[in-house]
Order: sequence, then C-alpha cells, then structure tokens
Amino acid sequence: MFSDGSGLNSGIGTAAVVALPLEGPHLQFLLGKDTTHTVFESELIRILLALHLLCRYPWAKMALIALDNQAAIAALTNRPKQLGQYIVDAIHKSLCTLRRTHPRMRMHVEWTPGHSKIAGNELADAYARAAAEGARSPLPELPWLLHCRLPTSVAAIKANRKWKLIPAWAAKWKQLPRHAKMSCVDPSLPSHKAYRTLTDQPRRDTSILMQLWSGHISLNMFLNKIRAFNSALCPHCASPESVSHFLLHCHRYTSQRRRLRYKVGAAATYVLWLLSEAEVIPHMLHYIADTRRFDKYLHVGSNELCCPLPKSTDNTETIND
Ligand SMILES: [Zn+2]
Repeated sequence: MFSDGSGLNSGIGTAAVVALPLEGPHLQFLLGKDTTHTVFESELIRILLALHLLCRYPWAKMALIALDNQAAIAALTNRPKQLGQYIVDAIHKSLCTLRRTHPRMRMHVEWTPGHSKIAGNELADAYARAAAEGARSPLPELPWLLHCRLPTSVAAIKANRKWKLIPAWAAKWKQLPRHAKMSCVDPSLPSHKAYRTLTDQPRRDTSILMQLWSGHISLNMFLNKIRAFNSALCPHCASPESVSHFLLHCHRYTSQRRRLRYKVGAAATYVLWLLSEAEVIPHMLHYIADTRRFDKYLHVGSNELCCPLPKSTDNTETIND
C-alpha cells in the first residue's frame, strides 16, 4: 500500500492506494488551501487513509505501508505535542481498532524514496495531485475525522503571514534613507543570507559587524558627526577616517592589511566582501584585532580570539574619546 501528499495550485491533497499486486482501491482527500493547511498534515492524513483502507481486508495477514516522508513516520512515535497532533491521535486510535478487528495482521511502515520511479509511489502521487486539484473520495468511504472540516493549522497561518510580510518589508526597506548606505555593504539586504551572516557570529562579533555596517563606530568620521571629536580626518593620512579608509587605505595599518590579504586574497580590497562574506569576516575581525584600533572600546585585540595574534610593538593608538 502506498500513500502520498501533495501541494499543488494552492491546494493541499493526499491519497492512499492499494498498489500491490495490482492497482486496487484508493482514497483521496482535499485538506484545503495551503493558506490554512500544511503539506505535513497531508502526510499524516495519508497514513490515516491507508489504515482506513486496510479495514477492507479482514483476511490480510501482512500489510506494508510505504511512505516517502520520514518526518511523518517519526511523528508516529514522537511523544511530545507536535504539529497535527490531533491527526497522530486519530492514527493511534485507528491502529488500536485494527489490532482488535484484525488480530492476526502484522503491519509494517516503510520509508521509500520519493520520485524514484517506484510504480506504487508514482500512482499514489498521481492520486494526491488530483486530490490537490479537488478530487475527493465519497464522504462515507473516508475516516470519521475527515467527515467534518479540519481545524486551521497555526503553522500554515504563520507561514502565509511570513510570505506576505517579506515582500512588504523589502519594499519598505528600500524607501528608507539607510537603504542606500547599507546597499554598499550588502545589496541583498534584507535577505536570509545577511541575517545568517549576522546571527551565525558570536554576539560580540555581531556587534562589531553591525557597527561596521552602519558606520556608527568609533572612527573619526562618525565621532566628528556626533560632535564627540573635533576632526573627521585620520591623524595619519589626513583623509576622512571612514570604515572603508580604516579597512582598505589607512597607511598606519599597512602591515596588518598585508597579513589580511595573505589570508583572504583579493577580498581584502573590497569592503563588500570583507563585511558580508562569511568566510572572510573572521579574518577581517582578526585584522581589527591586529590593528588594536579599538583595543579599549570593542575589546578586540586581546586574547579572546580563537587564533591569538602576535602583539604589535609599534601601535599604541587608542580611541579618541
Ligand atoms: Zn589613515
């Protein structure tokens, strides 16, 4: 016996079919729209349909239910409350009933790889797709749980809300003045990649990275802007001391920059890569530690780094505030 669930054209459908030795009876059910139900629920419902089909074979001694979803199989033995718990409870009730009515039947649930040209699986997939588009078995043939409307899934509502929010968030972000400045750092903002880049770092590194992204860091250009220092110029180069100047051009840190370039190659010459590429960021943080520019401010440059750096003997500069 094979079963499958499918999401197609905004519909969530599921089906189970007796496929061995020949194509036998089947059951189909349309859960509803993908805004109110999840494919995972359909994966659980198909197990329920398969068990319901077994009731038609009181003489059977062995039943093999093949599924192509490991999460649905694992859900049968998970004790804590989970998504679609009411369906899992109905499955266990159905199993208890089968144990009473079919005492000699041995049942086995087996995982099969999906879309791998297994005839029974392909047949169940075809029925599930038809169910997603509206096909449905007669109500009296379905389990009692499916005779009335299924409760709306909170997970589906959250997912639907999220997919609506993301484009609205991106559109609003592009209207903000900060967008133009942050685009120089990461044009993909707001994106999952940028979020992961920030959150995958230790908290301290995330703080440093965010200050570099926004330019709100203790460099003279920002300090002068907030009137905390009387000059925006770098004391060594007579150029505005911005983030890009500090990372790419300042003569004070030529040797440290050479070490950075040895580690990351051409990425050391682009602010975009230094601040947004996950593989480059740890080396960039080492560069900051090596310069000891923020030694008393961001607490980088001490022994907290995973690869301790040699102490600089000629650099005693501290922040200007
Ligand atoms: Zn400089």
